[in-house]
Amino acid sequence: MSDAADVRKALATWVGYLGEIGVRELSLREPGAGLAAIRDEIGDCKRCKLCEARTNIVFGVGDPRANLMFVGEGPGADEDAQGEPFVGRAGKKLNEMIRAIGLERGDVYIANIVKCRPPGNRDPEPDEVATCSPFLFRQIESIQPKAIVALGSPAAKTLLDTKAGITSLRGRFGSFRGIPVMPTFHPSYLLRKYTDENRRAVYEDLKAARARIDEAS
Ligand code: URA
Repeated sequence: MSDAADVRKALATWVGYLGEIGVRELSLREPGAGLAAIRDEIGDCKRCKLCEARTNIVFGVGDPRANLMFVGEGPGADEDAQGEPFVGRAGKKLNEMIRAIGLERGDVYIANIVKCRPPGNRDPEPDEVATCSPFLFRQIESIQPKAIVALGSPAAKTLLDTKAGITSLRGRFGSFRGIPVMPTFHPSYLLRKYTDENRRAVYEDLKAARARIDEAS
């Protein structure tokens, strides 16, 4: 038998075995492949009114093969100026939160529900979320993280498709297309309400997310 026939036979045996143990789907996609194509498709986006006042589209940053992803609501003034998510005061707090669970900013992937700054840092409006979030969803599908931390209400509501607020959602895993999502307080909220109770709550949420990625790796 030729080498190719041997390889085909071994693969058929392996796939048969996976089927027997209940595996129904196999992905041959490399995590992170396709992010550049998503960015290219966004282009110089004019799909919603947020394009009018933005300086930069803030696509996302971090390890394209990250096990853990953080999703915020939308860029603020610093992020709009620099084109990178979470680089201002909230970003410094987020970096601390990431380090508190033994990771560095470069180990994770960070993105937002909308990629352009909502004027005056208001919450993104439903039409803006509906227009922009499919790109985030495709980033998530490309990265294939083992868990996602949703930072604040807009992120949790969008990923979990719920109207519930962050106070009732935080601390319990939900799911986005089969990926565990841990909702927690937004770093800006934590900066405003820096109580022991809130700090402990966020730490517990992040520890649970860390445990989930460790279990899955
Ligand atoms: N707040 C967010 O939700 N995202 C950022 O990128 C910065 C601040």
